[in-house]
Amino acid sequence: MMADCLFCKIIKKKLPSDIVYESDSVIAFKDINPKAPVHLLILPKEHIPSVNHLKKEDRELMGELILVAQKIAKEKKLKGYKLIINVGRGGGQLIDHLHLHLLSGKLLELP
Ligand code: 5GP
Ligand code: ZN
Repeated sequence: MMADCLFCKIIKKKLPSDIVYESDSVIAFKDINPKAPVHLLILPKEHIPSVNHLKKEDRELMGELILVAQKIAKEKKLKGYKLIINVGRGGGQLIDHLHLHLLSGKLLELP
């Protein structure tokens, strides 16, 4: 838990969010400013700032994030979806806690 991280606060339920999936290691909730009819954020509970901070031992965790995306998509019977990870400010990352965007339906703009 990083004291000044917005997503860590959501994980710790210190801030509200619309949670759609939760396990010991992963959480998924609705994006507050959706760019598509379905726009979810899937993230590790562990505070990893970005893809650039991943280590070899995080391989399984990263696989889990994608499998959670697949599970949610199946449950919601999505016809198809996009998974997006922004990396660094130059890549459009605004929140420094690694997260996967799951988007489905007509995309308004890229997150
Ligand atoms: P990034 O640009 O870092 O890849 O994506 C950050 C995402 O977090 C944005 O799509 C933004 O709408 C979303 N977001 C920012 N603040 C909050 C919040 O307080 N709650 C939720 N649920 N989403 C947020
Ligand atoms: Zn964090």
